[in-house]
Amino acid sequence: MPDPKSNFTSKTIIHEIVPVGMLQCNCSIIGDPETREALVVDPGDEAARILELLAKHALTVKAIVSTHAHIDHVGGLRKMQQATGAPVLMHGDDMELYRRLDVQAAWIGMRAPDPASVDKLLREGDTLRWGRFEANVLHTPGHTPGSISLYLAPQPQTETATKAGTETGRLLAGDTLFAGSIGRTDLWGGSLEKILRSIHQKLLILPDETIVYPGHGGPTTIGDERAGNPFLELPRHSQR
Ligand SMILES: [Zn+2]
Ligand SMILES: [Zn+2]
Repeated sequence: MPDPKSNFTSKTIIHEIVPVGMLQCNCSIIGDPETREALVVDPGDEAARILELLAKHALTVKAIVSTHAHIDHVGGLRKMQQATGAPVLMHGDDMELYRRLDVQAAWIGMRAPDPASVDKLLREGDTLRWGRFEANVLHTPGHTPGSISLYLAPQPQTETATKAGTETGRLLAGDTLFAGSIGRTDLWGGSLEKILRSIHQKLLILPDETIVYPGHGGPTTIGDERAGNPFLELPRHSQR
């Protein structure tokens, strides 16, 4: 019996989560088993391994998205772009961070990867469409200025059992929300007040059963985080 919270292939959705690179960033491949179209999110490293998985499922990449421009989430963008020809998308408010890959690489003592050309800048309210899926772009600043989360709303299981999608909503939260924790805000452009506002106003309003796939570590749900995440108490001054 497949665990819906881990790598998951069914008639309606292919969702592979691959921890890549030194910092084990969770790269997600979300594919439509019928049209074989896929979205790749946060290919931070190990492009060859991601490409192998795409080939295993016979998927064609329609777009490559980074939830934010930290090096562990963007390191494989150029190789993925070159190998697939798919457009690379990220939020405009992280472009400054993306232009400083050399500085970021120096922080963690690695060589800077060559940058991809960013084909489209994402904004709050954008919708990504591939196969029979769509994901809403939620701008969730705080970990970085241009951090985004991607929300795949649940598909109503109506007339036929072969209808596309995910019976439960899925949220790719980048480094904004983790199981029992939140993203760090002490790096360039970070803000504790903003990340808390992002989580409260844009993520905790989603249905309890929404499965959250953070940028690192295991999955959780919106309900579990609302009930038990100790970092989500608002400091008094920002309660409004
Ligand atoms: Zn990060
Ligand atoms: Zn990260």
